[in-house]
Amino acid sequence: MSVILKLTRIVQAAAEAESPVAQVRVIVDSIRSAMDIDACNLYLANASDEMVLVASHGLGEAAIGTARLPPGTGLVGLVASTRRPVNVADAASHPAFHYLPGTREERFRSFCGVPLVRAGHVIGVLVTQSRKRRELSEEEEAFLVTLGTQLALVVATGDDWQELDASATRTLTGIRGAPGIALGAACLCEDADLYAVTDMRCSDIEGTVSEWRELVSTVQEDVRLEQRSLGTELGREVSAVFDAYQMLLSDPALTGAVEHAIREGHHLPAALRQVIQHFAELFLAMEDPYLRARHEDIHHLGNKLYGAWRGMRGSTAEKPPPGPKVLVGSQVSVSDIAQMPQDELVGIVCFQGSSLSHTAVLANALGIPAVVGVRELKGVYNGEPLIVDGFAGEVILQPNASVRHEYRRLAAEEKQLRGQLQGLRDKPALTPDGVAVSLYANSGLLADISPGLASGAEGLGLYRTEIPFMVSETFPSEEEQYHIYRQVLEAYRGKLVYMRVLDIGGDKPLPYFPIREENPALGWRGIRFCLDNISLLMTQLRAMLRAAVGIGNLRVLVPMVANTAELSSFHAILADACSQLIDEGVDVVKPPVGIMVEVPAAISQLPLWRSQLDFISIGSNDLSQYLLALDRNNPRVSAAYDHIHPAVLREIARIVDSAEELELPLSLCGEMSSDPAAVVLLLGMGIRSLSMSAAQLPRIKWLVRSIRAEAARSLARQALAMGDGDAIRAMVNGKLHELGLSSLVH
Ligand code: PEP
Ligand code: MG
Repeated sequence: MSVILKLTRIVQAAAEAESPVAQVRVIVDSIRSAMDIDACNLYLANASDEMVLVASHGLGEAAIGTARLPPGTGLVGLVASTRRPVNVADAASHPAFHYLPGTREERFRSFCGVPLVRAGHVIGVLVTQSRKRRELSEEEEAFLVTLGTQLALVVATGDDWQELDASATRTLTGIRGAPGIALGAACLCEDADLYAVTDMRCSDIEGTVSEWRELVSTVQEDVRLEQRSLGTELGREVSAVFDAYQMLLSDPALTGAVEHAIREGHHLPAALRQVIQHFAELFLAMEDPYLRARHEDIHHLGNKLYGAWRGMRGSTAEKPPPGPKVLVGSQVSVSDIAQMPQDELVGIVCFQGSSLSHTAVLANALGIPAVVGVRELKGVYNGEPLIVDGFAGEVILQPNASVRHEYRRLAAEEKQLRGQLQGLRDKPALTPDGVAVSLYANSGLLADISPGLASGAEGLGLYRTEIPFMVSETFPSEEEQYHIYRQVLEAYRGKLVYMRVLDIGGDKPLPYFPIREENPALGWRGIRFCLDNISLLMTQLRAMLRAAVGIGNLRVLVPMVANTAELSSFHAILADACSQLIDEGVDVVKPPVGIMVEVPAAISQLPLWRSQLDFISIGSNDLSQYLLALDRNNPRVSAAYDHIHPAVLREIARIVDSAEELELPLSLCGEMSSDPAAVVLLLGMGIRSLSMSAAQLPRIKWLVRSIRAEAARSLARQALAMGDGDAIRAMVNGKLHELGLSSLVH
């Protein structure tokens, strides 16, 4: 198409648009497709001469209408004040560069901005950006300048854009709790605050102890009723959240401790507060993020018990506003969720919490978008319009019309996608060119079993046995472990379960076995710990072997192996456990054994260990951490942690080659397997088995079914020749966009 024709088409489409919002959208969309660029943004000046981002094809949607630059700020301000184009290959290194939070602009390198001038006034700035570091050519720049001159005549300004004056619109950042987008009105939860309780002496100890016991059974009944109101329709994963409450309520360690505090003379709420605080602190002190997140369940339960004691029977929301509702609270408990009519509840936002909290678990199970850990939520009022962006972990308060429009579109696309994914459950994970990929689920709690099965997982690719150890008060006995493992293996009868032996230490300490070390990541963890505590390992292996009798689906995975002697010692202990049980008359079979390849030292030794291995599984979380010397749980450096790093990819390619040569079955069970861009590269490198959290499995299956193994191979080949992780990610994401998989790239 000739340049003149391209220009005319764009200007004509802009002039014919029905509304200012549609007009700016048409402009950025059509420029993006007419030119070889990755993003096109339009800024218009408001009454205070601030440049407001009114439309973008490429920047974060949440920034539209909210991102604004004061006069003269940034490269956009430079274009406006000089009235001349600014065309630079690397925007961030320009002295005038100013980063606009919320735009996710960091993904782009180049910048070319041209002014929109009408009657001598700069009314806006049109910007194109590319991931590549390159200046636009003279012809491209001239095209933009011409376009800017013509668009300045047709683009709506002034009063038309009052709705984009986003002074009321605020974006708050939290943590992704559950994916999805929701638009609704805030509905505030009112907590009964156990922590506001002051102590009083208890005058009738026996009476208070009976009152406490009655309170526990009342709340047990409440939980049962709430569970019924949600659980029957929504399956076992939802019930599991309530089961955790019931478990705590029937745990003598908790109920007994309250009784004990009452007998010491505290009145009931103070005794309860003391015990809840103690338990919550125990969990909060844990380094493992999953277990740390459990402290919230304890708070919820404490407040629930206290609310019931005060006759409130759980927390209550204020009179809800009409229409779709977003539950907002410092902590949104399962009771709050259960009490809300399910057809009205569209989203959840809470101040506290992490992505592993029960609120998040439940929101995921219910398919309700959630953002947790939003710090500055104070001041939100009942009925305030808001948007929950569970993909970005953002809450947009008082969104203007343009933002609402964009999010409605995104929500509609997402709904369509979810419908498509549901239909994939029983379909094979087969690439369009016929390559089969095995998709397994990761799990660590009994509560996680059913989501794995429901998602269509082929089995459990990683069962983290340390979780039952961490939630216990002492090392669980052989019998206790046997019961847990039996349930897991039973649930997956006919499918394989890769049970990892105890991997504590490092980021997974046990509360009753504190290990104080200068450098825990390099310390007493994984197999090193097990071999120094052989009786623990022996107990665990006996429990696993007994649990597998008659089912035969157990595979044993050994963590953190770095030395030949560790592997041989492990085999000797396993053989010993088998012969002990056989002597006791138990009909055990020695299961296949494999290792996690996660300590870089393991990679080069695989050929030496071949005879002792039946399979291997790449632990990409630890492998990346040790290769990059970066702790991703350390907020100071976690931003730099990315498993799509040239060094990580090259080591994985080395493992794949080695496994092929050694005919050693290979899988990968770290977070990489739920990152779509990483999965493309893994498939391209030849990995055919992945294990991930159940919630991610349908999306990854969709990806596998959409990308030809051939295409993945070519991307992996290119990636392995590149030296910049961001560029690799951008290249693969570009392919995902091309394949119509943009909704996987968040
Ligand atoms: C890993 O290291 O990649 C892994 C799967 O194990 P964990 O995250 O439990 O250490
Ligand atoms: Mg690991």
